[in-house]
Amino acid sequence: MRANVMGGFSRVLPVAALLALQTGSLRAELRISSDFESGSAQVIEIDQATQTVLFQPAGDAARGWPNWWFLRVDGADPQRPVVFKLRSRPEIAASWTMPLRAAFSTNGTTWVHTAPGERRGAVETYRVSTPSATFWLAWGPPFTVSDAKAFVHSVATEHSFAKEFELCKSLEGRSVPALQIAEGNPPDDKRPGIWILARQHAWEVGGSWVARGFVEWLVGSDESARWIRQHAEVFVVPIMDADRVATGDGGKNSQPHDHNRDWTETPHYVEVAAAQKQIQSVVRQGRMGMMLDLHNPGAGSPPELYVIPGNLVSTATAGRQDRFISLLREQVPDLKIVDEHPRSDAPEDQTRWRSLTAPWVQAHANPQTISFTLETPWNAPHGTTESYREMGRKLGLVIEKYLRGPEKP
Ligand SMILES: [Zn+2]
Repeated sequence: MRANVMGGFSRVLPVAALLALQTGSLRAELRISSDFESGSAQVIEIDQATQTVLFQPAGDAARGWPNWWFLRVDGADPQRPVVFKLRSRPEIAASWTMPLRAAFSTNGTTWVHTAPGERRGAVETYRVSTPSATFWLAWGPPFTVSDAKAFVHSVATEHSFAKEFELCKSLEGRSVPALQIAEGNPPDDKRPGIWILARQHAWEVGGSWVARGFVEWLVGSDESARWIRQHAEVFVVPIMDADRVATGDGGKNSQPHDHNRDWTETPHYVEVAAAQKQIQSVVRQGRMGMMLDLHNPGAGSPPELYVIPGNLVSTATAGRQDRFISLLREQVPDLKIVDEHPRSDAPEDQTRWRSLTAPWVQAHANPQTISFTLETPWNAPHGTTESYREMGRKLGLVIEKYLRGPEKP
């Protein structure tokens, strides 16, 4: 959460309130807050007369791109729209901060899109008409650490084959929840291990929703889902960077570096160290099947799969990558393949590349392992909780086909 109210507010309000008193039309005043989990808004000015709020994301740039925003509104007059004028922060290009449609909720849990905003220069304007005096508005549908805890707990409570566990305590002492799913026989040391990670970049909330959609499908009645449960062991971490998700910071390019660039032999983040340790335990048993790292891409990007290029993996691994890609293309026809290769042969570029999640896992895994980064689009018409979860379901179908394919991992 990042809350800060700048000047303007206290000067404007008494005049407006006085006028309202004189005309006998005093009503509840519009209030904006962000002092809650994942909240982030720096209010620059509120014009009570026109219900117009000028604001910007409040993230600490040392904790990543300040593009995530999430605020609560109280005291809105339902007879008139509330107008939000969103400014982007100078540290970052505006497109990362300004979705075409914002996420809107009247209960803080069910999220829909607003009407498209209007961009004029460096300001995006969203007009919200709602019968509710209290509502929430955000960059995208929020998914907090508490949401992750509640979700893994409910899945583990409802399904005996699912277990919740704490991946670790974060550097700031937060519990990082995770799920392990495996049903019946064969014994775990024969099952391919599947690792799904999300939110190594805190603002990329879609990753958590894709992971959630995948889990919802995996524990359900679909025959393909049951097959995965009975033949693989699946680990899901819905939020890796619990600290920056909790404080409403962006995470990407955080100091000293972000989670996705922390995959070395001496990781800075406890979550990365814990995930590495558990993945390596699966690797030691010779059964590491797949790692998928879930992200959100740029504003106008299609679904993107970052693939380690064929000249950097074995021929057999390249063949497995191709098989996974063609299965994913059946479900996601507009999938774009992006080479995840070092920028150059310079030692610093090589080191930088090796510290990325997918290349690290690939380099520390078994011969049959494949390892990708999947970026799910977030700008309209994508970016609703339904479309994110649908991507998770599609991913499940692809994983089942891949695992059952001609060559067993
Ligand atoms: Zn990312």
